[in-house]
Amino acid sequence: MKVPMLDLSEQYQGLRSEVLEVLDQVMGSSRFILGDNVKKLEQDIAKFSNVAHGIGVGNGSDAIHIALQALGIGPGDEVITTTFTFFATGGAIVRVGATPVYVDIDPETFNIDPVKVEEAITEKTKAIIPVHLYGQMADMETLAKIAEKHNLVIVEDAAQAIGAKQNGKSVGELSSAATYSFFPTKNLGAYGDGGMIVTNNDDVAEKTGVIRVHGSKPKYYHHVLGYNSRLDELQAAVLNVKFPHLEEWGELRRQKAETYTHLLNETLGDVVTTPVEKEGNYHVFHQYTIRVENRDELQKFLNDQGVQTMIYYPLPLHLQPVFENLGYKKGDLPVAEKAANEALSLPMFPELKTEQQEYVVAKIAEFYGK
Ligand SMILES: *Cc1c(COP(=O)(O)O)cnc(C)c1O
Repeated sequence: MKVPMLDLSEQYQGLRSEVLEVLDQVMGSSRFILGDNVKKLEQDIAKFSNVAHGIGVGNGSDAIHIALQALGIGPGDEVITTTFTFFATGGAIVRVGATPVYVDIDPETFNIDPVKVEEAITEKTKAIIPVHLYGQMADMETLAKIAEKHNLVIVEDAAQAIGAKQNGKSVGELSSAATYSFFPTKNLGAYGDGGMIVTNNDDVAEKTGVIRVHGSKPKYYHHVLGYNSRLDELQAAVLNVKFPHLEEWGELRRQKAETYTHLLNETLGDVVTTPVEKEGNYHVFHQYTIRVENRDELQKFLNDQGVQTMIYYPLPLHLQPVFENLGYKKGDLPVAEKAANEALSLPMFPELKTEQQEYVVAKIAEFYGK
């Protein structure tokens, strides 16, 4: 049996005629940039996130960068974020000229540890970027209290967590801005790059909307340095077809997660640490990530047996060569460094079959002699 990490083909077959129709409409309209499709998606996703504004941009990395710039974060400022994330989180901080301050994670959720955030605050700290890793929100209530106490802003990197909730609150409700990615593999994936900023803050909405069009306002007059970073109409049209299915796909992901957890706990007991959904959270399982010993050998074994897995992420940001100048060394953030050696993400997508999940678990059991 072959079990891919992600298979988008079945989803496409189900939506194919609708997708082709809307693509044809966009091409027939000759309106490719910032038209009605983008506007509709911005409104729908803002509403879905229970906030006032959505601003479509070129990708999820630009979304973080543009949100930071709109909030006035720049040279001389420190931004606290998790070391256990995709590169883009840290890259965006450096791209606005600020300094990333990486902190350690909660070993259960892999998300930023609020205690470590508070310890890292200095008089230069201006912002916190929690990342809702694998589809579960970081502890936003605690982070919001810390931010308020120290007069900081929060930008949520929600690239992996569209649809996630915490105590009834959506991504974007407890921060100055939250950012989504529509990279094809994300829970709401385009057929190319795309991203969005969602915010309740009118000023952030206004500024991010200007920055994405070269800082042009009125047209051809530039008061701020902007970029060309827009969600395009073809991608927005595809996303408008997919968006109505997002909640149902989230539910399916949660069912697959439950199946994995049940099978793994039953066959492997404490050889495998299964994901934890913290109380009050609605985890959307962008990834189903276990912790194991001998992870690299297990991955190789599974690969030989036709099971594709991924390591998110093998090297925390504080140890990345590009950030060497920040002066971190091995051992500085031990919880994340341990996670980087133990985390393994298993195949996860709404169309995954129970037989495939059973096969994955049987092969893991075989590897550990269970
Ligand atoms: C995917 C991702 C991004 C970047 O999104 P792109 O659309 O690929 O630029 C940022 N942060 C995290 C945590 C991600 O998973």
